Amino acid sequence: LSAPAAPLLQGLNPEQLAAVTLPSGHALILAGAGSGKTRVLTTRIAWLLQNGHATPGGILAVTFTNKAAKEMVARLTAMLPVNVRGMWIGTFHGLCNRLLRAHHKAANLPQAFQILDTQDQLSAIKRLCKQFNVDEERFPPKQLAYFIANCKEEGLRPRDVPAHDADSRKKVEIYALYEAQCQREGVVDFGELMLRSYELLRDHDPIRAHYQRRFRHILVDEFQDTNRLQYLWLKQMAGDEAEGRLQSHGCVMAVGDDDQSIYAFRGARVGNMADFVREFAVQHQIKLEQNYRSYSNILDSANHLISHNSRRLGKNLRTTQGAGEPVRVYEAATDLAEAQWMVDEIRQLVKNDGFARKEIAVLYRSNAQSRVIESQLFNASVPYRVYGGLRFFERAEIKHALAYLRLLENPHDDTSFLRVVNFPPRGIGARTLEVLQDAARQAGCSLHDAVSAVPGKAGANLGAFVALVDVLREQTQGLSLRGIIEQMLESSGLVEHFRTEKEGADRIENLQELVNAAESFVTQEGFGRDAVALPLDEHGQSLTQSPVSQGLDPDAPRLDEPLRPTAGIIDADTGETLSPLVAFLTHAALEAGDNQAQAGQDAVQLMTVHASKGLEFDAVFIGGLEEGLFPHDNASSDRDGLEEERRLMYVAITRARQRLYLSHAQTRLLHGQTRYNVKSRFFDELPEEALKWITPKQQGFGSFAPNSGAGSAYGASAGGRFGFKSETFASASPASSKATSHGLRAGLAVFHTKFGEGKVLAIEGQGDDARAQVHFPRHGTKWLALSVAKLTVVE
Ligand code: ATP
Ligand code: MG
Repeated sequence: LSAPAAPLLQGLNPEQLAAVTLPSGHALILAGAGSGKTRVLTTRIAWLLQNGHATPGGILAVTFTNKAAKEMVARLTAMLPVNVRGMWIGTFHGLCNRLLRAHHKAANLPQAFQILDTQDQLSAIKRLCKQFNVDEERFPPKQLAYFIANCKEEGLRPRDVPAHDADSRKKVEIYALYEAQCQREGVVDFGELMLRSYELLRDHDPIRAHYQRRFRHILVDEFQDTNRLQYLWLKQMAGDEAEGRLQSHGCVMAVGDDDQSIYAFRGARVGNMADFVREFAVQHQIKLEQNYRSYSNILDSANHLISHNSRRLGKNLRTTQGAGEPVRVYEAATDLAEAQWMVDEIRQLVKNDGFARKEIAVLYRSNAQSRVIESQLFNASVPYRVYGGLRFFERAEIKHALAYLRLLENPHDDTSFLRVVNFPPRGIGARTLEVLQDAARQAGCSLHDAVSAVPGKAGANLGAFVALVDVLREQTQGLSLRGIIEQMLESSGLVEHFRTEKEGADRIENLQELVNAAESFVTQEGFGRDAVALPLDEHGQSLTQSPVSQGLDPDAPRLDEPLRPTAGIIDADTGETLSPLVAFLTHAALEAGDNQAQAGQDAVQLMTVHASKGLEFDAVFIGGLEEGLFPHDNASSDRDGLEEERRLMYVAITRARQRLYLSHAQTRLLHGQTRYNVKSRFFDELPEEALKWITPKQQGFGSFAPNSGAGSAYGASAGGRFGFKSETFASASPASSKATSHGLRAGLAVFHTKFGEGKVLAIEGQGDDARAQVHFPRHGTKWLALSVAKLTVVE
């Protein structure tokens, strides 16, 4: 018997209650930030299950991030003792990955296909351009990547792309070559995950019919940021069109907020909302107008700001909470001063007001802003955690390790081959690789298969590399995931290589962390525990009667795991499961890749505004509110762009529950240049009565040397409060690893126009006298005067 209904629905307001308990039919919930959309969605799932309107296997829920998916499951299990294992809850990419693995034959992919992240995709395109002599000035690889991603988001294959002139014909040709290359290597990029699984549903009636029957309830969060293809994908899942109407077995509930649409640059279409209402003949539309998240000073600021946008569907938001603290605004002289102010406020929030560090977020428009904030937090010994930015799995040494692992699974993965064929160095030069690539192209085979075509010493070196991987593959047969990785780290020579490198200790630590990540992937996520899992229909029946499924105990727990896009996936035809290694590699490509070790720590949260969508924190800092940065240069010239920036600011503001801090700096070191900035127009669009300006009085514009260190940044400030900061800097010993200047510190990777990439070893002196010792692999170690040398931090 189901538990009493009351606790589940308790505390919902009438509109929320109506939404949670809607009868069948498609529904759109359009509501502002913090009005409980996500809560309604989650409660709806619980309510459907509790009242027998749905079984776990009949639920498909789409979230915007993996983190959101995890949170949804956590909340769900807290509400209801429910077995979430049969549910499909995840991001579009995660769900598509599941579909493609389960039906890889129909999708024309190897089951163990690898996923290319953005970096891999770019290097694959660069390789292609070299191979086919594409003029990279005329067709920059980055633009080609963008072009291809766009085509895929529109659902267009090369043959479908209209090409009227020579340039666009060339681009389409490259797109086709790229597609062929990926297919040959058995790899897919993010866009391909989506497009391929859309085509899978579209072109295979039995598979489509199966999922349409299975998923009686499809729920989509953050619907305003779906792109065209995702919308079409949902439509395939929901039903078939006949006589101009969607014939649907189930119901789709979409929740969204047009004011929070911030991914137009990636193809998101707010227009999907209107299309949804029309094409699905939506029966229920509900608005939620009560905000439960923020005090009214914060909410008023958000409302006031967003009212400057003209294209809105129109919603109201009110709160019954009091005014709360005013929104604090700080005008800093430099980005460094801004960061120091933030750190100071954060320490006070924690010490005096009892805020948990993990409930404090620092949001920024651009990833490049995080560096100076990080270094200040680091200097003050405040634990912090960065989301996004360079993710763990994107670090160079980790990518190298993953490339070896990928080659174990698939020797024809040319991207991985090229990444490590000469890393650690084995005397294989660029010329040899050109010969190899030519041979492979002529034979129409992978680099691996073309090795024997290269003559002489070079060929022997290549042969030795291939043999190394082959031996490693044999050595690791039957080993645990951990065992495989440890063996790989040793046999590949990676650890040994970094041991001899001056700054290699960090990298070895990260490689060790990879072992830990694999270990926790296996244990926490339980990979390997499941016997088998097949695509199941709503009643837990498998799609096909494979030999494996016949042996299944019908009372065994649902084996269809919702959260791990890989675990428990099995070939619908053969019953073949993914190896833990492939599962782990997929996890590495799809997950945010946050450092596992940091996960539970009480740390200040740093992230871009984009990454903060859907989240909430007790206190929020939004820095860098400067023209050109926020609103961003790229966007502020046209109205659409500016409106999107404003929505982004609206998202940022509405993350805050209790305290909101806004700041801008008069000068900022960004991308190696000092920029003099005007404060953001957004300040003028906030209600004056909700703000409190706390700028130091005597701080004048132009009276200080830009970015010349803490001393001058605070020399003009009222002192006292910040006094200890200057001391920290004054007493910093020369070449101390903690010293910072011009936004640099030891350990950072930098780029110099003449010497190329290098690594900062030490910083000495301050202001105009500051110098950095930088090691450039090709030019050796040099000391550079920071007021003269143009160093860009490499991200
Ligand atoms: P966003 O647009 O930022 O994604 P949202 O509309 O999804 O926001 P939620 O995250 O679901 O909003 O809810 C915001 C906060 O308000 C959460 O902490 C949630 O628990 C709380 N909340 C929602 N509804 C109620 C309610 N009826 N009573 C008390 N708290 C509520
Ligand atoms: Mg939400």
